[in-house]
Amino acid sequence: MELKIGAHMPITGGLYMSAERAKELGLPAFQIFTRNPRGWRYPALSADDVKNFKDATNGAFYAINSHMPYLPNLASPKEETYRLSVESLKEELRRASALGLNFIVAHVGSHLGAGIDEGKRRVAAAVSDALASVDCSCFVLLENMAGQKNSVGSRFEDIGDIIEMIKDDRAGVCFDTCHAYAAGYDISTENGIAEVLGKLDNAIGFKRVKLVHLNDSKARLGSGLDRHERIGKGFLGRSGIRAVLKSKLAELPMILETPVNDYREYADEVKAALSLVLEK
Ligand SMILES: [Zn+2]
Repeated sequence: MELKIGAHMPITGGLYMSAERAKELGLPAFQIFTRNPRGWRYPALSADDVKNFKDATNGAFYAINSHMPYLPNLASPKEETYRLSVESLKEELRRASALGLNFIVAHVGSHLGAGIDEGKRRVAAAVSDALASVDCSCFVLLENMAGQKNSVGSRFEDIGDIIEMIKDDRAGVCFDTCHAYAAGYDISTENGIAEVLGKLDNAIGFKRVKLVHLNDSKARLGSGLDRHERIGKGFLGRSGIRAVLKSKLAELPMILETPVNDYREYADEVKAALSLVLEK
């Protein structure tokens, strides 16, 4: 089976530059932010932005996805934050549709003390509303979380409940290896990952998983900390990443979000990952 390992690409110099960088590194897939991820405000996409991006991507990639900005919280009990978050997801769907992206990745969010059931209900309503209001074939993938305090989507059962409530085939899952490990799912051995994927299949259905975030973890099993590490350098380590790459997850496109100083270093990260699979 051919591994499809891509990476997060910067959009400095224009959205289309992300695709040029991905081609420079020979990546089969890549992820972008379609706007500044640190604020609520953003300029509209121009016709040139769209045309340049489509020209640059034009059939050259197996999968392209965007990641939602950091501020939206689809589980927020605060009305104003929630309203802005749903609006932000709708805008991301409009952008993804214009750019021809396959997936949008969204963190499930934090209920901020309002309780997990209320949080799940709000996320489901947010995604249903957004998917119903924007005509787009692109998927919204909920990313499993590391188990931070009040987080809604670190347990597979909770993500499964949310997806069931959404009732739309365009709702899916992005599986982040670092977050899963930090949330207490021991995927660091071949037996461990087989067991974890069995739990995932029961709680969500493996077919709902469309994308993998391939990251090592700076934090220990069950730590609840979201700290990405470079491939083979963290607690998953070389054997853990190898187990991931030999599992069913490897059938899916994978995106590296490991802490590099420059996007070009993702070429080394891909090489590091591929070398693990070739090793005896
Ligand atoms: Zn991630």
